[in-house]
Amino acid sequence: MSYDPNNIFAKILRGEIPSHKVYENADAIVFMDVMPQSPGHALILPKAPSRNLLDADPAVLAKIIPLVQKVAVAAKSAFNADGVSIAQFNEAAGGQTVFHLHFHIIPRYEGQPLKT
Ligand code: 5GP
Repeated sequence: MSYDPNNIFAKILRGEIPSHKVYENADAIVFMDVMPQSPGHALILPKAPSRNLLDADPAVLAKIIPLVQKVAVAAKSAFNADGVSIAQFNEAAGGQTVFHLHFHIIPRYEGQPLKT
């Protein structure tokens, strides 16, 4: 499957669709999920185009993973969470719905399952 430059996250990256952006650097942006699984649910996207982890350039991954760690640590603290789930889905059968690589950062709380 090839990358579709008109996917919704590509439009957010180009500024064609608004988002609640909380961080940006040369390689990535972080914005809040529009349908959060818990308070503070954020999405981390590399700016480089790839459908998902399966076709991503390892050089891009080498830059994004430290950011995933930083955002997870910051989200746990900022949202006073007990833990953090980091999720990433690949292709429709793998649960992916938007086909630009992204990582979910989901603050978690003792005794609170995710919304279904
Ligand atoms: P996945 O592709 O990993 O299943 O998840 C895509 C995520 O993107 C979902 O959690 C969904 O709520 C979120 N999402 C879909 N469309 C938008 C949008 O237009 N803006 C934002 N901020 N999040 C979106």
